[in-house]
This record gives sequence, structure tokens and C-alpha cells, in this order.
Amino acid sequence: MTSSWKTRLGGLLLIFSSMAASGHGGHAGPGEGTPPKQPYFKGIRGDYRADEARWWKGNTHTHTWWSDGDSPPETAAAWYREHGYQFLVLSDHNRMQAGAIARGNLALHYSQWYPIEDEARAAALAIYREHFGPDWVEERVVDGVTQVRLKALDEFRGLFEAPGEFTFVPGEEITDRFESHPIHVNAVNIQDPIAPRGGETPTAIIQNTLNAVLDHGLRSGREVLAHLNHPNFRYALTVEDLVPLRYRTGEGFFELYNGHHGVENYGDGEHPGIERMWDILLAKRIAEGDGTIPYGIANDDAHRFTTWRVGKDSNPGRGWVMVRARRLTPDSIVAAMKRGDFYASTGVTLGRLERRGDTLALAVDPEPGVDYTIEFIGTRRGAELGAHPREPAPDGRASQRYDDAIGVVLKTVRGTEARYVARGDELYVRARVTSTQPHPNPFRAGDVTMAWTQPLVVAAPQGRTP
Ligand SMILES: [Zn+2]
Ligand SMILES: [Zn+2]
Repeated sequence: MTSSWKTRLGGLLLIFSSMAASGHGGHAGPGEGTPPKQPYFKGIRGDYRADEARWWKGNTHTHTWWSDGDSPPETAAAWYREHGYQFLVLSDHNRMQAGAIARGNLALHYSQWYPIEDEARAAALAIYREHFGPDWVEERVVDGVTQVRLKALDEFRGLFEAPGEFTFVPGEEITDRFESHPIHVNAVNIQDPIAPRGGETPTAIIQNTLNAVLDHGLRSGREVLAHLNHPNFRYALTVEDLVPLRYRTGEGFFELYNGHHGVENYGDGEHPGIERMWDILLAKRIAEGDGTIPYGIANDDAHRFTTWRVGKDSNPGRGWVMVRARRLTPDSIVAAMKRGDFYASTGVTLGRLERRGDTLALAVDPEPGVDYTIEFIGTRRGAELGAHPREPAPDGRASQRYDDAIGVVLKTVRGTEARYVARGDELYVRARVTSTQPHPNPFRAGDVTMAWTQPLVVAAPQGRTP
């Protein structure tokens, strides 16, 4: 009896101690001292702790079958995942990748069942089936037409996301118009779709949309941002529309490069290019306004993943942002962008970037056989900032004319490293890097790869403001 009881107790003790060691036991065995430490996260690989910030590559403007993209969202996401991106905003027109359209002013797809009604869609479906498998793709036939069920972000994100490797940032392209002019604003890291807000003027429409996104951020507790898209698309917007917008630095963002072939990044004889519009905005807002500035974004506005033609297809990979953040989470990425800790690129990578005090300094991560020119661009205090009417008056909407002293090259360095220390008579200074490397799939034939930093606002000589 006694020996049998002892054996049983010994067995029980053994079970208790092995449970504690494997992390399952809540109590130490009878008669034992200090319980063993719980081995948290044993054997799980994860990027939970970030000791220092690093650069993350992402695109904030992408379309799928949920609006007018040519492919299902999984095909789009796979492209970015396989081309070295760490984050992606799928920004469909007036809807997110779930549910109904936010407002029915866009005659696109109202259903979650997507009709395969032409050869282009059939080609995209074939790619979808091949890469994701017939067990993943859900199809049905209605009145002789094949339909594919669009999967919601929460259904497919698990195929792609991994800690420290890839994350989606939920988004939407809030798609509005002033008369016939498109006014589009991307909302990044929102929780639910935001309907277009309308307004009496282009400025009011943008302001109402921006306010709706900022309110959404306050209500949801998320880090959100809104960026104004392709101001020159159908020459819808002018500099004068954008100067009066009210926002704090870190709340205003502006596409200075959009890879869609139809958006007129470079302007024409009657319209300034978007980069020049940025300089005019920066100069006027700093010198005449409250000093708050918009940050510049590059993205590809991709719609086409099945056909690849320069000047005809809006393909992925033409432009992106590099964001410096400790962690690859939507809130962390957006918070870094709101701090201005990012740059825009169409192919040039920066190894170092410093933008503080009176200094803007950078170093290019060079590619073999490629030469780089770094230009520091700014506007000096006292430059003539007045607007002058165009003569003859253009047919459509067009910005007024501004002096050439806005957005001048202050310093040029040929090489991979450069530093600009402000003299104090600049309103702001920003850097642009131009390489000799042809862009592999350019916005316009002949484009080379480039990068753009955010502006350094130079404190006024008297009454220095931070
Ligand atoms: Zn758009
Ligand atoms: Zn778009």
C-alpha cells in the first residue's frame, strides 16, 4: 500500500513539474519552492521589439476589381509582396475591400460578384486561378456570365501578412468631383469607408474630405492621413485651390508624382507641373499663410496588372514612398509619415537622410554604373509671390503665373552625398535626386529614376520658430 501510494505521488509531482516547464502549469508542485519562469513566445519568430527605426517601402494608391482595377486584390497584393514592398494601401474608389460602395455616384461595381464580361477580365481570371488555385477562387455563372466573388481584405490578408515583412494599411480613394473635374483624396488607415462630402468649390470639397478623414481618426483612435491625388488629372485643380486649405503640418499630403499615365505630372504650356505647384504652395503657405506645409508623396496609382505598356497602362512600381519607422504596423507607418519621416521615390534609394535644425543632408544608396545629381531647391525670403493672370485666358481651369524666383536650385552636387546648411534667408529647402538610370517602366518614355525629400522649413532669422 505505502509503496504504491508513494509511486502515485511521485508520478503526480512529475506531471506538475513538466506542466510548469512547458508553460501550462499554473502552480508549483506540492513541496516545491519558486515556480519556474513562464517561457513566453517560446519558439515563435516575431518582430515584436524594435530597437531602431528602419526604412519600409510602400505604395499608398492601388486599384483592384473592387473598383476599376483590372485584377482581384490578391493578384495586386502578390505583385507588391514579390517586388520588395513591405506595406500596401488598396485604395478603391469610394469603397474598401468589403461591402457596398460608400456612395453611388460612381457607376462601377455595386456587388461583391464581379462579372467576367470581356477578354481582359477573362485573362485576369486565368492569372487569378493559376496563382491562387481553383479551391481559392469562387465562381458562379448567372445568365451565362461567369462571376467571381471578390474577397474582403480580412479574408485574404492572411495570405500575405507577416510580422516585419508585409502589412496592408486599409484605405479608400474618396472620389468626388467639382462640375466635371475629378477631385480625389486617398484616406489611409481608415476603419470604414468615408463617403464623398461634396462642396461648393474645389477648395471646399477637398477641405470637407480632409476634415472627414481627420474626424474619422479622432473617432476611431487610429493614425490616419489623407493625401490629395493627381492635382493635374484633367487639369482639375489649380495652385489657388490648394493655397487656402486649412491643416496642420503632418495633416496635409500631396501627390507630387503619380504613375498613372493620364495625370499630367509634368503639366504643359498652360499648366505648371505638380512639382512646381508644390514649390508655389510651400512658398505661399510659409511666407503668407500660417506656415503649415503639405508633404509630397509618390505612388503608382496602379490599375493594370495584366498588361504592361508605357503611356497606356497604369502599372505598379512606377513610384512609391520609403518610410522610416520602428515598426511595420499601419499606425506606426502613418505616424512616421505625419512626422514627415519619409521620402518619395521612383527608383533612387537613400541610405541616409537628415532633416532637422538648419540642415538637410542625404546619401544615396548607389547602384553600380549609375551617376547621381542632388539638387537643393527652395525659395528665398523676399521672392515675388504674387499671382498673375494668364493671357490669353486658358479654356479650362489653370493656375495663374508665378515668378521664376519660386522654386530655384540653391545648390547642386554631383555625387552620392550632399548637405545643405540653411543661410537663414530661405523659406524652405528640399532635395531632389536625379539619376542617370532609365526608369524600367516610366510614367513617360525617357524618364530616369529619382527621389524627393520632404522640405525643411527654415526658421525666420528673428523670432525663431520651431
Ligand atoms: Zn484618382
Ligand atoms: Zn486612383
